[in-house]
Amino acid sequence: MKKYNFYAGPAILPAAVIEQLAQGVLNFNGSGLSVAEISHRSSDFTHVMQESRRLVREILQVPDTHEVLFITGGSTHHFAMIPMNFLAKKAAYINTGHWSNKAVEYAQCYGNAEIVASSQDAQFSYIPQNMNIPQDADYCYLTSNNTIYGTQFQQYPACGAVPLVADMCSDIFSKRIDVAQFALIHASAQKNLGAAGTSLVIIDREWAQRNKPRPIPEIFDYAAHIAKASVLNTAAVLSVYSCYLTLQWIAARGLAVIEQDNIAKAAYLYHFLDNSSLFTPRIQGKENRSLMNVVFDIKNPDLEATCLQYAQQHDIVGIKGYKTVGGFRASLYNAMDMEGVQHLVEVLQSFEQKNA
Ligand code: PMP
Repeated sequence: MKKYNFYAGPAILPAAVIEQLAQGVLNFNGSGLSVAEISHRSSDFTHVMQESRRLVREILQVPDTHEVLFITGGSTHHFAMIPMNFLAKKAAYINTGHWSNKAVEYAQCYGNAEIVASSQDAQFSYIPQNMNIPQDADYCYLTSNNTIYGTQFQQYPACGAVPLVADMCSDIFSKRIDVAQFALIHASAQKNLGAAGTSLVIIDREWAQRNKPRPIPEIFDYAAHIAKASVLNTAAVLSVYSCYLTLQWIAARGLAVIEQDNIAKAAYLYHFLDNSSLFTPRIQGKENRSLMNVVFDIKNPDLEATCLQYAQQHDIVGIKGYKTVGGFRASLYNAMDMEGVQHLVEVLQSFEQKNA
């Protein structure tokens, strides 16, 4: 029975990737070994790592100034590694809710993390505009897509000479971006990229290699990861392999096509929510809406639990909103196709009619 997976993360992966991954777990490249039991220094895995890094470069047109790394762990690890590596005097943080809040908290362990713009005054329902980024900041940090609140930057702030750092955990590979705008991008694998376990980092090489503001262990030093070609320690082989397969899937489809599909899928769901008598989108301002995580509410909260149950009976999985914000959330990552979104809308529509 087909399930429609709307989980926010770990999240849906392309069916073809899951099949290839399963095959690789049983017998990797006809080697008679599982991809889960090969050395991260074997030639087979070296190929997977090198190709994954190359595919990221190709898909995102990463300029020569930047390095592509896979580092074990999630985006959370980079909340700490970024200030360790780069926070000397002061860093400027844009607070769009939970994930940027956490990044601020981690940075404060190392120095002055100043919130220079925030949407806390309206429950993080919008993306702050017209910011003044202090030009003496070591870097400016933002969360490009807030997975929990369902907001997304459509344009990134102009930071002048201040290096821009972005947590793209939940919208990397969902659209084309200009990598040159960023000094560092980080993203856990678990959404548009692959199985959880590794994280992608795209980093300006020169910036990474600058003198550190403090002594840090090698494993937390971006420059050391560059020097060791992303295998400073044991790589998360299975997770990186899943990324490799997904990157091939992305490259074959093309990012421009994926971007158009993502616009169409989100437009379809928001159109239903905007016109529904029972449901309403949490984020009202269209310019703030996430195309990846559509957060919505039911106008009669007494029906929330029944609606979740109804959705489940119709093979819809993972639309319960994040625990601190409630409501519903449908995550429309790359691997969710239009047919899946149409199914969700049909089910919500039929629930609406039954409860009219
Ligand atoms: N940033 C964002 C935007 C996220 O959505 C998440 C996880 N959902 C994280 C950071 C944390 O990622 P991880 O748990 O893999 O460290």
